[in-house]
Amino acid sequence: MRQILAGTTAAKGMALGRARLVQPSRYLVDTRPLNEGEVDVELERLHRALETARQELRELRGKLHGALAREVNEFIDAHSLLLDDPELLRGLDDLVRIGHYRPGAALKKQRDRLAAVFEAMDDPYLRSRKEDVDQVISRVISALQRQTSREERKLAARVGEILIADTIAPADMAHLAGAGLLGVVASSGSPYSHSAILARSLDLPMLVGARDALSTIHDDDLILLDAERGEAVVHPTAQDLARYRSWQREAALEGRRLATLANAPTRTIDGVDVRLLANAEMPPDIAMARSRGADGVGLYRTEFLFLRQKGLPTEDEQFIAYRDLVLGMGGLPVTIRTLDLGADKADAAGLVLRGEDNPALGVRGVRLSLRYPAVFTTQIRAILRAACYGPVRVLVPMVTQPDELIAVRTLFKLARQELKRENVDLPEKLALGAMVEVPAAAINVRALLEHADFLAIGTNDLAQYVLAADRGNDALDNIYNPLQPALLRLLSYVIAEGRRAKKPVSLCGEIGGDTNFTALLLALGLNEFSMHPSQLLHVRDRIAALDHGALRGQAPRILRARTHEEAEALLAQITG
Ligand code: PEP
Ligand code: MG
Repeated sequence: MRQILAGTTAAKGMALGRARLVQPSRYLVDTRPLNEGEVDVELERLHRALETARQELRELRGKLHGALAREVNEFIDAHSLLLDDPELLRGLDDLVRIGHYRPGAALKKQRDRLAAVFEAMDDPYLRSRKEDVDQVISRVISALQRQTSREERKLAARVGEILIADTIAPADMAHLAGAGLLGVVASSGSPYSHSAILARSLDLPMLVGARDALSTIHDDDLILLDAERGEAVVHPTAQDLARYRSWQREAALEGRRLATLANAPTRTIDGVDVRLLANAEMPPDIAMARSRGADGVGLYRTEFLFLRQKGLPTEDEQFIAYRDLVLGMGGLPVTIRTLDLGADKADAAGLVLRGEDNPALGVRGVRLSLRYPAVFTTQIRAILRAACYGPVRVLVPMVTQPDELIAVRTLFKLARQELKRENVDLPEKLALGAMVEVPAAAINVRALLEHADFLAIGTNDLAQYVLAADRGNDALDNIYNPLQPALLRLLSYVIAEGRRAKKPVSLCGEIGGDTNFTALLLALGLNEFSMHPSQLLHVRDRIAALDHGALRGQAPRILRARTHEEAEALLAQITG
């Protein structure tokens, strides 16, 4: 019989598939107390399960590539941190050793304690962090259960299924999406959760808070997940299926319409050409950038080479990665950013200083590279060698003042001399550019432009530093807003100064690929956008509907806005 379950849309879209239930059976644990003689053995089991859970997260990290890796690694880091949390671990040990809890019961007890703390919080984002605790503990419990029963993990996806669960860990979602999962219905959770954010970027429809999902739906029930309306239909009728087919047709049409833009120029209604570049990390990004008609790579984040492995990548390993990138772009310009480690990106090789009080304000980006000239020179040599295969520009992250660019230029000069002595082929002079992501660099951009051949504005960090609001902290949503007048004025100033100095200025933060900001950025005078390649066609489509001259004329009005709300209202008015 047809039944409808209401929920909150966490990621839009529709999907039709068989239900696959993951019951939270993980909390059905043995509550009988341990005998004194069992304590040591059980403690060891607990530690093994914790280690298995850590290992699973490490393996998962190794399997994910490209943009997906970037998104998921953040969650994996959060979960790994929880697994190493001294307070959690000490609490578990005490429960087993002193309280004589079995490991499963100890895990459940700790979970309940932590959940109560999070649930008591007013902030919806912080409240939703309870899900992370749930997911981590259930991973350990499941590792514990496998030690005895060796049963296969329940989360082995079959193609064509919709997952019905209490919550799902982001890392598991990434894995399942690759294995053919169609959508997710979660009985708890919030649209603020890490999983919800990930579902949106994976284009995986997802409902959260579908309260009775686990008791109403059975394994293999046919489910129509309608995350457009915020409901899941169990045993859909012919009428439901017709609605689904019509949605599919529209979605396919929209997809095909966008696909026709792959080889089209990026041009506004009034005939102004705009350059669209891709942000890339891994080979699939490069393939996508090519197939969607990017004008080049505007940001190649090299730190991912350093985060993927234990030691430092060798010169040859780096050379091969950069050369393949250059070859992959078939003669289009490629912007290689030098290492941007530090803050939230700590490498396994231990370059990043541990224990800094404020790592986001610490030794990161070019500050770190200049602290380790030998490591930096290895990267510089690899870049110089790769640049013999096609046009390359070099971009320096986290520049604060001109002397950093001067120091980088000197290291490039020295590396050239070294390579020349070794009779290695050398490229023509490479353009050296600065990321503008530190407020001082933006405000003093004239001085920077005397030493930089081009600029790339990193709005992700620039916003965080201008607003003193951590870019990863969703609790600061109302402050971390790209429409903040202070940020808009700074963007406009940097773009104008770049034009005055006749040097290219691109923008490679997330807003570059967000069509909600395309009109704004054109109004501020930007004509080079760099974005995740999945966004290229959407932005090209948006630009084709905008009038450049009219938008430029509105810039003074936008720049007079006193609050981000005012800027938003103005923008809505201007773009109709
Ligand atoms: C930025 O800060 O806007 C940027 C593009 O760099 P990342 O996101 O790698 O810090
Ligand atoms: Mg940055």
